[in-house]
Amino acid sequence: MSETTIGTGFREVRRIPVTTDLDGSTIEVTVNVVTGARPGPTLAVVSGLHGSEWLAPVANLELLEAVDEDQLAGTLLVVPVANPIAFATGTRNIRDESDSPDLNRSFGGAQTWLADQLAKTIVSDVLENADAVIDFHCGPWGAAMNVVGCANDYSNDTVNEKSMAMAKAFGRPHVRPSRLATVFPGPKSMIGYAGEVLGIPAIVSEVGGVGFDPDVEATWKAQNVDGVLGVMAHLGMVDRSSSEGDVTLVGKSHRVNPTKGGMIEPILGADHLMAEVSEGDLLGRVWDPFTFEYIEDLRSPAECVVGMVPTSQPARPCDWAYLVVEFDLASVWGAITTGNFALLDPDRRSSLKARGNQMGVSLATSPTGSENGGPREADPAVFDLKLDRQSSIPAYQQLKFHIIHAVSTQRLFPGDVMPSVREASEKLGLAPATVQRTYGELKQEGILASKPGHYVYVTDVADRADRQPGPGGQ
Ligand SMILES: [Zn+2]
Repeated sequence: MSETTIGTGFREVRRIPVTTDLDGSTIEVTVNVVTGARPGPTLAVVSGLHGSEWLAPVANLELLEAVDEDQLAGTLLVVPVANPIAFATGTRNIRDESDSPDLNRSFGGAQTWLADQLAKTIVSDVLENADAVIDFHCGPWGAAMNVVGCANDYSNDTVNEKSMAMAKAFGRPHVRPSRLATVFPGPKSMIGYAGEVLGIPAIVSEVGGVGFDPDVEATWKAQNVDGVLGVMAHLGMVDRSSSEGDVTLVGKSHRVNPTKGGMIEPILGADHLMAEVSEGDLLGRVWDPFTFEYIEDLRSPAECVVGMVPTSQPARPCDWAYLVVEFDLASVWGAITTGNFALLDPDRRSSLKARGNQMGVSLATSPTGSENGGPREADPAVFDLKLDRQSSIPAYQQLKFHIIHAVSTQRLFPGDVMPSVREASEKLGLAPATVQRTYGELKQEGILASKPGHYVYVTDVADRADRQPGPGGQ
């Protein structure tokens, strides 16, 4: 204990030995512990799993300055540099010949390399003592991001829900829920392991980067400190009014990287982080450093927000440059149906409203009934669709938005009879419960209706007007 105030909170620095390096020095994990004066939960804040992402250790210094142990309820465990070996070489991973050089892919595995030893120490001395965890990442030198993520695929739904609540409490305008426990970065990442194996809710802050204007970097550090304090308020560790505003969920991401080596010339830079772009918008260009010719345009493949921006710098082929992230349509739809636009600027609001119109908020009336006067069957061609199994948007939501889109583009009409759950599930290769969930949510939102024990049909516009929106959105 380096400093103690009797009867109140205190701080200490714990150095936990992992092993002895070849040069005789001790490899250790350093934990800054702030023990509050009042009982409460333990929050672990871990940064530097990747050694090149060094904005976070500095943000953690500011976090430790911002927390008052005499006011704190619970315990804060801060690991500024989780991978000191990679940090020392300024690289993402440990530069050795091991099969597992990436600490954030080394949790809970059967391997015994150095990264696995670091992971074991972090589990036994940090995570196993924690009730919640925040994992800090950011861009490596010359790249920046600004999104907070969490898993939506832990097998324990309560952990998914708690993680999402923490992500929102972080207070950034964009949250990206994805299948990070099972798909990427997977169960051997720290938060994959924390949520799935230890049952600890977890989020990842990917806010900021290094190699930018110092004022811009200072803003990102402040956003990270503010985010952790927001989570601590949410967990009841500090008294602070919630900074939680409206959140836009974003989903599937696309890397837009140079396919050939060259110099990156950003068109959209740090001030465009999380700006909206349309399909085909120019993000940046690549030029040949030997002939000075432009050799590649970097364009957004879809309507997205800009999730990662580079500075002007040389890039190897397929190296980091841009990352764009698609809107999670569920969130957009939720924002439209609830009219929850408070934090959106006017341009953004009109673009969402326009999208809402496309998605069926304002609908033209259309023919009802078949030629023989009976109920008209929905066009089977509408259900010729291929769902994206890799998407972070679950299948039931993909189907939901497909149906909304079909209604808004007049491929489905009011009165059309939908295929039965069994028919649709067979045709789409989905579990009946998945189709049931889609139909259920669309009924709650007034897009579909059914007569008891009877067929499901598309509602009339007038039927929808006075309905309350369902919880669909998020
Ligand atoms: Zn990272």
